[in-house]
Amino acid sequence: MQKYVQLLKQNKIKITPQRLQIIQFLDTHHTHPTAEDTYKTLKKNNPALSRTTVYNSLETLRKHHIIQELTISGNEHCYDFKQGSHHHFLCRTCGLILDIDIKCPNQDRLLHNGHHIEEVHGYFKGLCKNCANKQKNKKVKP
Ligand SMILES: [Zn+2]
Ligand SMILES: [Zn+2]
Repeated sequence: MQKYVQLLKQNKIKITPQRLQIIQFLDTHHTHPTAEDTYKTLKKNNPALSRTTVYNSLETLRKHHIIQELTISGNEHCYDFKQGSHHHFLCRTCGLILDIDIKCPNQDRLLHNGHHIEEVHGYFKGLCKNCANKQKNKKVKP
């Protein structure tokens, strides 16, 4: 928990137990949950937690670049604690979102031009390994 307290302090964000819980949840669940997923999961252990608190906290954390907001699926925003620039892969069949650890090759070029880049988002869409295998198996059978 201490590292999350430090993180909030560094960013001059008021430390609340809810914010700490949200960061911890995102740091330990790299499944890119939506705001609703986050709320529902944390609510189980904190019956007093309100939806508004979760949504507002996510927004505060996002504004300070502590968490990333992904719009990969088009309708719902997903959240990610993972630091540094990385891209995402969305499976169109099962909805899985994976981290792709490659850096945007154009990022440095833009930096050299004097631009200040704060976020880089790369979205890949397709079939994940599991779904691709399932499809293959289906085709093999007569
Ligand atoms: Zn899949
Ligand atoms: Zn990610």
